[in-house]
Amino acid sequence: MSDLIIGSHVSFKKEKQLLGCVVETLNYGANAFMFYTGAPQNTNRIPIDIELKEAAFKLMEENNIDKENVVIHAPYIINLANNNQNYDFAIRFLKEEISRSEMLGIKKIVLHPGSHVGLGKEKGIENIINALNLAINEETKSIICLETMAGKGSEIGDNFNDIKKIIDGVKHKDKIMVCLDTCHLNDAGYDISNFDYILDEFDKVIGIEKIACIHVNDSKNDLGSHKDRHENFGLGNLGFENLIKIIYNPRLKGIPKILETPYVTKSDDDKEKIYPPYKFEIDMIKEKKFNSNLLNDIRNYYK
Ligand code: FE
Ligand code: FE
Ligand code: ZN
Repeated sequence: MSDLIIGSHVSFKKEKQLLGCVVETLNYGANAFMFYTGAPQNTNRIPIDIELKEAAFKLMEENNIDKENVVIHAPYIINLANNNQNYDFAIRFLKEEISRSEMLGIKKIVLHPGSHVGLGKEKGIENIINALNLAINEETKSIICLETMAGKGSEIGDNFNDIKKIIDGVKHKDKIMVCLDTCHLNDAGYDISNFDYILDEFDKVIGIEKIACIHVNDSKNDLGSHKDRHENFGLGNLGFENLIKIIYNPRLKGIPKILETPYVTKSDDDKEKIYPPYKFEIDMIKEKKFNSNLLNDIRNYYK
């Protein structure tokens, strides 16, 4: 068995909750996963069912899925960078997300730092720090993993210095780590074809031990485009070889690699994305061999 820790985004649904996430993960042949505790685009959340959680942990144990390789993603609509009328709500929601993560026994919560929406970066960073200091205390068991962003609009966190400034301002620094996203790095202007250089840079600014999770997405856009549109593994501008090198980089051993690549349409002319690509992308990653028939294989399997 290799050291590969690979998984994808999976869905947390009402009926089966965390247990459903594990079943989906096993269907993809993965040993890690990430989920939203409800719909990513809204903040409606159902109560955590402890029996389902326990059944999920049992199934994880039977299949060698370490809970350290499971990650929660906070909904992307909570914006801690702008202290408008939604700011208090966003902080409260983050606190609730932390208690859900504690109830589920899943420590890592990936969080987009936020968008300042006209306030300016400095004020935005100040708001993020303030919010994190209100949401995190000594007793907090969760780890907030700030995600590096593409720099779309007024997003904060498209460079390591932003993230470093946030960490510096947070009181309980041991509860903050970082999630790298390869698509976002590229779109932010980091050339991921030399990932060791990026890691050196990250180590200098933040410290490599702070990397908690890596989103291994291809990108539809060019270096520095500030767009943030994910592409299927090996089909975008980053390419298969570059992404494989990142996944198997010895400096990133032990860190979960998570796919957030787009679902696939029924045919090239279709718009609706319905088939999950993960089982097939994970197969390619395990074999370190590009499947030039990826989309058709996915379509044939699910149709
Ligand atoms: Fe994200
Ligand atoms: Fe991501
Ligand atoms: Zn993204």
